[in-house]
Amino acid sequence: MNILVINCGSSSIKYQLIDMRDEKIVTKGVVDRVGLEGSVIEQKTPGMDKVVIKESMEDHRVALKYLLKALVDEEYGAINSMDEIYAVGHRVVHGGEKFASSVVIDEEVMKVIEDCVELAPLHNPPNIMGIEACQELMPETPMVAVFDTAFHQTMTPESYMYAIPYKYYEKYGIRRYGFHGTSHKYVTVRTAELLEKDQKDLNIINCHLGNGSSLCGVKHGESRETNMGFTPLAGLPMGTRSGNIDPAIITFLMEKEDITFEEVNHILNKESGVLGISGLSSDFRDLELAEEDGNERAKLALDLFIKGVKKYIGAYMATMGEEVDAIVFTAGIGENSAYLRERICDGLESMGIELDKSKNDIRGKEAIISKDTSKVKVMVVPTNEELMIARDTLKLTK
Ligand code: ADP
Repeated sequence: MNILVINCGSSSIKYQLIDMRDEKIVTKGVVDRVGLEGSVIEQKTPGMDKVVIKESMEDHRVALKYLLKALVDEEYGAINSMDEIYAVGHRVVHGGEKFASSVVIDEEVMKVIEDCVELAPLHNPPNIMGIEACQELMPETPMVAVFDTAFHQTMTPESYMYAIPYKYYEKYGIRRYGFHGTSHKYVTVRTAELLEKDQKDLNIINCHLGNGSSLCGVKHGESRETNMGFTPLAGLPMGTRSGNIDPAIITFLMEKEDITFEEVNHILNKESGVLGISGLSSDFRDLELAEEDGNERAKLALDLFIKGVKKYIGAYMATMGEEVDAIVFTAGIGENSAYLRERICDGLESMGIELDKSKNDIRGKEAIISKDTSKVKVMVVPTNEELMIARDTLKLTK
């Protein structure tokens, strides 16, 4: 029973076909440069050579047509016919306040996703294009939308409201939504399994640290705190995003530099974060190497990031109101960088967090990396958003 998972970005489509009998990947791939010159599909099926398909793909519909063709191709396809795709799960970035869980897509759901475009003008439009193209190409196949925001809908108002006039919440829906929800949910479910606890008894602080980063305070298995906000610009300094800053900096810069709001927005989204501080790279691997070579600004960028993560761990320990079972690391940095995990945990011993340096010496696999004496466990749990999407899709369409 195969579920196709589709993640449409503005110029890319990531996909995975997962056999839900054993939750194994049948094939996966990425379409790059959709709508641009040089569009290409790269598909990797376990046990087969990588397939590279270069075709002109002027929009998402054409790209999906080639993608589906690649899945069933006689020579290198992973399945024999489209009938072997039971349902399609679509990643949708913003579900606003309407969706607290995944839903089967119908006309009404599409309308709500379209209403959310205002809240996620960069992300929801390509998601919608992907859904519409799939509906056209596979009219009989059920489709499910899985939202990045849904997991955080359990937050209460004192965690999601901003202290600006209440009318702007009512008028425009300005509040904290939170993102990376599918990842935080997967890690929550998996951590409960690993610790052999009921999800409803699980309290963790999940550190999704990648190109984009967010922490999630999970209490009784539900999201109660996240440091991502109204948009994914909030919280920690990220690869190129500023994270939280004093909002007055925006108007100050507009005035001093004589630049528009769009220009400031670009600076905060694309030129800031660890790239902006280091002037070197948004990739944490580059920064770790540069710091080793004595680059002071690379060191400063990493110091800022590390201090940010520590502060949020402390804040969520304080607001949990109950014992925390584990600090969990996931995503590109969280799964792979023993160095940054060590530096983040360094000095947190007084909060009952004791990292075991030798257990920490791992990459990309599930593990408990704290000392046996540590009151709060420290864990690495690699995320799997695609599998979470496929599971929700199967559950809703079975
Ligand atoms: P995205 O948010 O785009 O999904 P990922 O979760 O894949 O990002 O994380 C990508 C980031 O992870 C890269 O930018 C890189 O900085 C970081 N990363 C990957 N491997 C390592 C490593 N071994 N050490 C430090 N950072 C790493």
